[in-house]
Amino acid sequence: MKPRIRLDNITLLLVGMLLLMGSLLAYLVTIDRDINGYNRYDTVLQELLLLDSGFDNFFLHKIEAVNYESINRDRDRFEETISWLIAQPLAREYGAEFPQMVHEIGVDFRKKSEAIEAFKSYNTLALNSIHYIFDLRRTLLSDPNLSQEIQLHLDKILFSLMQMILGIQTSKETLTRELENLKKSPAAEASPNLLHLINHSLSLTEAIRYLNETTRRAGQIPLHSKIDRLKESLHLAYERKIFIEKVIALLFFVLTFILIVILIGISRRARQTHQRLQAFMYAVENSDNTVVMTDPDRTIVYVNEAFEKSTGYSRLEALGQNTRILKSGKQDRRHYDEMNRILNEGKKWQGEFINKRKDGTLYYEKASIVPVFVDGRLTNYLAIKLDITEYILQQQKLKLSAAVFENAQESIFITDRTSRIIAVNQAFTAITGYVEEELEGKTPNILKSGYQDETFYRKMWEKIRDTGRWHGKIYNRIKSGEILPMWLTVSSLYDEKGNLLNYIGMLTDLREIIQNQERAEFLAYHDPLTDLPNRAYFEEHLFHAIELAKRKKNILAILFIDLDRFKVINDTLGHDVGDRLLKVVSERMRTTLRKSDMIARVGGDEFIAVIESIATAEETTYVCEKLLKKIAEPIRIASHTLNVSASIGVSLFPDNGSTITDLIKNADNAMYLAKNMGKNNFQFFMPELSRMMHRRLDIEQGLNKALLQEEFWVTFQPQYRLEDGSLYGAEVLLRWKSPTLGIVPPDEFIPVAEETGRIHEIGMYVFEEACKTLVTLEKMGLFLENISVNVSSKQFMEKGLPEAFSERVAFYGLSPERITIEMTESYIMDTSTYDDTMLHTLKRLGFKISVDDFGTGYSSMSYLKILPIDSIKIDKSFITDIPHDPNDNAIAKAIIVLSNSLGYHVVAEGIEHPEQERFLLEQGCAFGQGYHYSRPIDLERFIAFVRTKSPSSRPLLMPPSPAKSAV
Ligand code: C2E
Ligand code: MG
Ligand code: MG
Repeated sequence: MKPRIRLDNITLLLVGMLLLMGSLLAYLVTIDRDINGYNRYDTVLQELLLLDSGFDNFFLHKIEAVNYESINRDRDRFEETISWLIAQPLAREYGAEFPQMVHEIGVDFRKKSEAIEAFKSYNTLALNSIHYIFDLRRTLLSDPNLSQEIQLHLDKILFSLMQMILGIQTSKETLTRELENLKKSPAAEASPNLLHLINHSLSLTEAIRYLNETTRRAGQIPLHSKIDRLKESLHLAYERKIFIEKVIALLFFVLTFILIVILIGISRRARQTHQRLQAFMYAVENSDNTVVMTDPDRTIVYVNEAFEKSTGYSRLEALGQNTRILKSGKQDRRHYDEMNRILNEGKKWQGEFINKRKDGTLYYEKASIVPVFVDGRLTNYLAIKLDITEYILQQQKLKLSAAVFENAQESIFITDRTSRIIAVNQAFTAITGYVEEELEGKTPNILKSGYQDETFYRKMWEKIRDTGRWHGKIYNRIKSGEILPMWLTVSSLYDEKGNLLNYIGMLTDLREIIQNQERAEFLAYHDPLTDLPNRAYFEEHLFHAIELAKRKKNILAILFIDLDRFKVINDTLGHDVGDRLLKVVSERMRTTLRKSDMIARVGGDEFIAVIESIATAEETTYVCEKLLKKIAEPIRIASHTLNVSASIGVSLFPDNGSTITDLIKNADNAMYLAKNMGKNNFQFFMPELSRMMHRRLDIEQGLNKALLQEEFWVTFQPQYRLEDGSLYGAEVLLRWKSPTLGIVPPDEFIPVAEETGRIHEIGMYVFEEACKTLVTLEKMGLFLENISVNVSSKQFMEKGLPEAFSERVAFYGLSPERITIEMTESYIMDTSTYDDTMLHTLKRLGFKISVDDFGTGYSSMSYLKILPIDSIKIDKSFITDIPHDPNDNAIAKAIIVLSNSLGYHVVAEGIEHPEQERFLLEQGCAFGQGYHYSRPIDLERFIAFVRTKSPSSRPLLMPPSPAKSAV
C-alpha cells in the first residue's frame, strides 16, 4: 500500500503562517526600501532647490567680477541630478505624472541655464566698458580742450551711469538722449576720446539694459516653484503610499496574530486531547478488562496487561498474531459467522467466547467488539473483554448444587442467620410432611418434639457457635404428629469476611438405621445361627463374673466345649444338617445350664460356658457330666438320627487364671486334653501336662529363628470383582514350615508371634513381600490393582508403623492406595490396644483400610461409621452356609446393606460355591475371595495366574464407588 501524505489542519495552518511571516518580512523590506528611496528623492530635490537658489543668487551679481567656475559646477550638478531623476522609475513608484514634472524641471533648468550664459556675456561686456569709460574720463579731465560745461556734463552723465549700474532709478532714455546729443556736439567731434567715451557709455547702457532684461527673464522662470511642487507632490504620494503599505503590513500582522491565536488554541486543544489520551491509555492499561486492538484483518496490534494475565501470552507474543490463537474450537462456526456479519456491517458486537489460554486451559469471556472508523475508513477493531470463567464455573456449580439440593436423598433445610427457614428440599418434605410454603419465616423449632430438654438445645447452639457445626441424634415431631429419631447435621455458612450467612441442616431418618443397628448390635453380641451370645459378649460377661467372684470370693468354672467329629457330619451330611445339629445341641446345653450361667458359641462347633456361684470343683464335674449326657442323646434331623458327643475342658477361677484370656485359653487347652483322651469326656486344666502348652513353646522357639532361616514364604489368594468376575487384587497370606514342626498354620503361629512380639518383624517381612510382588508383576508388564496385607493388632501398638509402611512403599515407588491393610475387628474393639490416630495416619498416608473377619467380633455399626475405613470383610463363617441358612443370609445381607450405606464396600471371604457368589452379588457385595476362585497359591503360580487374567490393557478403574452415605 502506498503511504499517502495526509495534510492535517495544523500543518496547513503552520505552512500558512510561515508564508505569511515570510511575506510580512519581504513587505517590510519593501517598505524600508520605499522609505529609503523617498528620502533619497527628497534629499535630491532639496539639493536642486539649493542649486536653484544659487542660480538666482548668481543673477544678483550684476556688473561684478564673479567666478564662473562655481556656477558652472552647480549647473553640471543640477544637470546630473535631473538626469538621475529621469532615470528613476518614478512613474511606477509614485504615479505617471512624476516623470512629466521632472521633465518640466529639466526644461526650466535649460532656460535658466541659457539666461545664466547670457548674463555671463553681458556682464563681462559691461564690466569691460566701465573700466574703459573710467580710464577715458581720467584722460578727458586733463583735456584742456574740453569746456567746463562739457566736463560737468560728463560728470553728470557718468553719475547717471553709476546710478544705473547701482540700479538706482534713472531714466535710461534721458541718459541715452543726452549721450546722443553730446555725440552730435562739436566737442564730440573734436575729441575722439570723448566720442569713444560716449559710444562706450551708450553700449554700457545697452549692456545694462540686457543684463536687467536677462535677470528679469530668469526671475520669471518657475524652476524653484516646480521643484517645490515636485517635492510637495512626491511627499504627498509617498505619504499615501506609505500609509497603504502600513495598512497592508498591519493586515499582515493582524493575520499572523490571528493565526498564532488559532495555533495556540489548537495546541491547547491538542494538549488536552493528549492528556485525555494518556489518561485513557492509563485506564486501558490498568483495566481489569482485557483490551485487544486489531487491524481490519484481525491481526493484533495492541493488548493491555489484563490480556497477558488472562491469556498467558506476553505482549510480544501476541502482537502480530491473528486473534485465532485464542480460539478453543469449543464454539461452532455459526457463532463466529454471526459475529463477523455484525462487525462487517460496522456495528458493535456483544457476546461470549470460550477461548484457550497459552497453556491450553479454557476460559470464558464476555466480549464487546466495536469497529473503529477514522475519517470514514475502517482502521481497527477494538475488543473489550471480561474473564467470566469463575462466574461461569460458579454458575455451573450453583446449578449443580441446586440439583444436588433438590435431588439429595438427605432432607436439607436452609435458614438465614436468624434461623428462619428459607428453603427446604423435596426429601425434607417427604420426611416431615411440611412443604416449603408452610415453613416460610418459621424456625426449625416447628419440629421440636420435647424429647430433648433445653440444656440439649443450649449445648447444641454453643457447639454451633464455637465450631460452626453440630451433629447428633435428635427426636423430631413431623407434621403428622409422629415423633421420629433423626440424625441432624448443622453447618454454618460464612462469607469471605467470616460473617455468618446461613445455617444448613441435614436430616436423616434414623428409623431404618436404628432397626438395622439394633439387629447388627444383636448380631454383634450373638451368634446368628444359635442365637447364643458370641465370644465378645461372653468375654464381657465373664469379665463382670470375675469381678463379682473376686468380691464374693466365689469359684468360677469356665467350660470349653467342642463337638466331636462335627466336621465329619458337616462334610458328609452337609452344612444344613450341621447347622440344625448345632442349633439342637446349643438349645440342649442352654437348657441344661442354669439361667444365671452363660453359654456362648465361639467357633463353628466350639462353645464356652461360665458356671457361676459354685462352691467346689466337684459341682463342675456334675455340670459337665450332665452336659455330656444331654448332648449324647440321639438327634433326629430329617431322615438322620445323629449321635454326637463333645469334649469339655474346664478351667477354674481363681486357680487356673485370673484373666479372661488365661481362663479361656486354659479351658481350651484342657479341651484338647479331653480330645486326646478319646473325646466325649471332660478334663480339668492341668498346666504341666498341657500338650498345647508344649506345642506353643515349640512354636515360640521355632519362630525365634524362622525369619533368619528363611522358613517363611507368602501365598496369594486372588480377590475378584463379583460384578464382572474380573481380578481385583490378592490377599497375602503367610506360610511357615518349621524344620521340627512341619507346616504350622498361621492361625496357630500368629498368636504366638503376637505374644512374643515377633509379629513386628514378621509383619514387616510380609508387607515387604507384598510390595516386592507388585513391583515384580509390574516389571513383567502385569498390573495388580490391590494387594491386601493382614496386620495384627499387636503391630498397631508400634508407634512408627504407618511411617515404616510409607517408607517401604516409597522405596518401591508404589502408590499406597494399592495396599489394603487388613486389621481384625477385635483390634478395634479392644480398647486397651486400639489407637484411633494410627488408623487416621495410615489413611492420611494413602493406605486403604479393611476390617477383617467382620462379624466375629462385636463391633457395632454405629462404632464403625466413625472409623476411617474403606472396606469390610465378612467373615467366612457367615459365608459358608449361604444361601441355605436364612440366618447367615440375613446377617450377610445386613452387613452388606449397612456397610454400603456407610460408604464402605464389602469383601466376602471364603466363597466356595457359585450360589454363594450369586447371593452375595445380588445383595450388593462388591468383592469376593475364596476357594471357589482360587486357594492361596505361591508367587510363581500367582504370577502365572495374573498373566492369564490380566486384560490386554492396564485396568485404570478403581473399585466401584460404594453406595451413597446414609448420614
Ligand atoms: P484371614 O485374614 O481371614 O484369611 C483368610 C483365611 O481364610 C485364610 O486362611 C484362607 O486360606 C482362608 N480361606 C480363604 N478362602 C477360603 C474358603 O473358601 N474356605 C475356607 N474354609 N477358607 C478359606 P489362612 O491362610 O490359614 O490364614 C488364617 C488367618 O491367619 C488369616 O485369616 C489371618 O488372620 C492370619 N494370617 C495369615 N497370614 C497372616 C499375616 O501375614 N499376618 C497376620 N497378622 N495374620 C495372618
Ligand atoms: Mg485377612
Ligand atoms: Mg478373614
